[in-house]
Amino acid sequence: MKKLNLHQHTLAVHAGGESDPETGAVVAPIHLATTFRHGPAGERVGGYEYQREGNPTNDRLCNAIAALEGGARALTFASGMAAISNLLESLPAGSRIAIPDDCYTGLRILAAEFLPQRAIKVVTVNMANTDAVQAACAEGIDLIWVETPSNPRMTISDIAAIAGIAHAHGTLLVCDNTFASPVLQQPLALGADVVMHSTTKYFGGHSDVLGGALVFARADELHDRVAHRVHVTGATLAPFSAWLTLRGCRSLPARMAMHCANARAVSEFLSGHPAVERVNYPGLPKHPGHDVARRQMRDFGGMLSIELRGGKTAALAMAGRLRLFTNATSLGGCESLIEHRASVEGNDPVSPANLLRLSVGLEHVDDLIADLEAALS
Ligand code: PLP
Repeated sequence: MKKLNLHQHTLAVHAGGESDPETGAVVAPIHLATTFRHGPAGERVGGYEYQREGNPTNDRLCNAIAALEGGARALTFASGMAAISNLLESLPAGSRIAIPDDCYTGLRILAAEFLPQRAIKVVTVNMANTDAVQAACAEGIDLIWVETPSNPRMTISDIAAIAGIAHAHGTLLVCDNTFASPVLQQPLALGADVVMHSTTKYFGGHSDVLGGALVFARADELHDRVAHRVHVTGATLAPFSAWLTLRGCRSLPARMAMHCANARAVSEFLSGHPAVERVNYPGLPKHPGHDVARRQMRDFGGMLSIELRGGKTAALAMAGRLRLFTNATSLGGCESLIEHRASVEGNDPVSPANLLRLSVGLEHVDDLIADLEAALS
């Protein structure tokens, strides 16, 4: 939309939402056409040719996500993993990348199984430790990947500090901003070059649409290379999914405010509970990343993890006793979810055996706390 210097809440409601020029409909139409009429020599008539290479519903979503992140361009994908793999697999063979020691399992598996097949070398770095990032960059790294807050331990990485280190070494910085959403954190403004989202989570907001996005600080060759790759390899977001995600944008700031308020109250309750050994929530002053999070986030988000006294047995027993929190993977929907991460991380789990990850939803917080209290006692 035209640059009007709007607040983010306003952008969320209006970006990509211009009324339909043909009918005046105030809600964006869904264009399901796979193909668009062109001239006899293939000339584009209405700007589009084939759905895999772009469609009007998806373009609206791309404009909205770029506006919310303050980026020059956005690309959308069939899933968050498609966004990650299209970006990383567009790097030249022989590239070296650094990924966080705590991050979404899918990135770890991609890095261990698939990137080496493309001769991309991966090192794992504790991104909460800027000295470790500095040391890795000194060895020669082409791309640093941060995920902050991280999944599932809620580690905080200092985006501005890492951007400074990365750029001093000519290294690209990519930030997975899924947990925070652009409402709480804008990595491009802090110096990141690309932001990645699993739009399956807070953007969609209702656990009913899969998708991913990359937002580029500049409309540059990297953007063009990744756009070309997705157009050819075909991990395109379907128009109905784009439409649902665009609808999610409208309420994103309002939902994030309630996710944050509920998660703060839940984290405070759990920190005071004797059955809980540790609460990983960056909003708690004792969280090691609290000061950095205060600097770079507007609020601390709806995700947290807990480590229970009594190990795996206690964690599974608690997860099994909950009535309102559903045992399920994923996050960012209206309903509260809980998951024993080690059980779903495959053959080589990295999460502590006593860790449960919570996606705090939009239910009344007193009901959520009562559910947790009953399950812990
Ligand atoms: N990044 C993070 C932080 C995630 O939590 C997830 C999925 O849970 C992904 C990326 C992958 O996204 P998707 O499941 O949409 O492929």
